Amino acid sequence: MPTRLYTPTLFDPADYPQPWQVAPTNRPDFREWYASVDWSLVPNIRPKTGNTTYPSGDPDCWWTRGSCTTPKRDGIQRDVTSCVDPNVMGLTLDDGPQCNSEPFYDFLKQNNQKVSLFFIGSNVHRWSNQAKRAADEGHHIAIHTWSHTPLTSLTNEQVAAGKSSSSPIIIGSRTIQLTLLVPELWYTQKIIKDVTGLTPLSWRPPTGDLDDRIRAIAQSMGLLPADIWAADTLDWRKDSAVEGNYQAILRDAQSGRFSFGGPVVLAHELDDFTMGFVRRYLPRFQEGFEHVVPVATCRNEGRVYAEENVRYPNMQQYLAGRTSPINSTTTTTTTTTTTLAATTASPLAQNTRAPEPESKGAGSGAGRVVVGGVLGALTFAVVGLIAL
Ligand SMILES: [Zn+2]
Repeated sequence: MPTRLYTPTLFDPADYPQPWQVAPTNRPDFREWYASVDWSLVPNIRPKTGNTTYPSGDPDCWWTRGSCTTPKRDGIQRDVTSCVDPNVMGLTLDDGPQCNSEPFYDFLKQNNQKVSLFFIGSNVHRWSNQAKRAADEGHHIAIHTWSHTPLTSLTNEQVAAGKSSSSPIIIGSRTIQLTLLVPELWYTQKIIKDVTGLTPLSWRPPTGDLDDRIRAIAQSMGLLPADIWAADTLDWRKDSAVEGNYQAILRDAQSGRFSFGGPVVLAHELDDFTMGFVRRYLPRFQEGFEHVVPVATCRNEGRVYAEENVRYPNMQQYLAGRTSPINSTTTTTTTTTTTLAATTASPLAQNTRAPEPESKGAGSGAGRVVVGGVLGALTFAVVGLIAL
């Protein structure tokens, strides 16, 4: 059966930066939002360039240097690398959507398998129909920046004479330096909202490149802890080692490595090579692990979108057959109503909570921070989500 062409999705390209260029800070809508956010949590950490001499003690919890996931600064959220339950896999794919994503989504649909998809904003701009389909079919949609530039390399913008885009925002006696990496996250969140109707709060830095400055910025934006991973297929290298990398994940499951918390697994939605491996190994993963689910589900993190009336299914709901986001405006079951009441979000003002423990129980999405008013009114209808 030929792949169905999805309903065209319309958005105004004028609302967005050029694809694959580092997202600018000078657009009025961005500047207005930026000025409304409290950035006081963000530590004064210098951007990491090729000339940076970095102390061996890893004072910034720089993942790229030492795989650090527990922040060194107070009040910053710890990264996510594992699922709550043992031997449960959180399956994630980065860098989509792509022109050839549809056959892959067909495959996932045929297998009733949902995954976490970390979308690049520039790819959503180019392949918006695929992005909408992925969201409509209930996959967990997340942010993976606008241009896929390593975030710790992006500088705090310097004030340069003659360049209006470099001007800081002045609020009363306070001067706020725009930070180039913030629009990388913001425009990706915005285009996903425009295209899919959902405002993602989950995110992952390109190549895992983050430190406490990046974590604090994301947290100040109301985003969830960064989703890193515990097992890497390294499929983007497209070499002969990929097969062995997949097999090693299965071996690790058999040897009990994941008996204290299943792994978040990293694969890529790059092309037929990388998506082909997921297709080939999914049955083996389903056999070798207790369950294969999106990371939102294996973390029981219901509030992965800012929309008040939408919750992503937790493990219990997913295993009961509820594998798509739950829209409270169309759901009437007692169980779901209780869950929604327990996960009512905190106001933006409470956006300073302690680092997360590695494991947490069902329904612990309570207290998650909302991007209140960040992207304008969040009036929303999950057309068709519940039916899928
Ligand atoms: Zn990536």
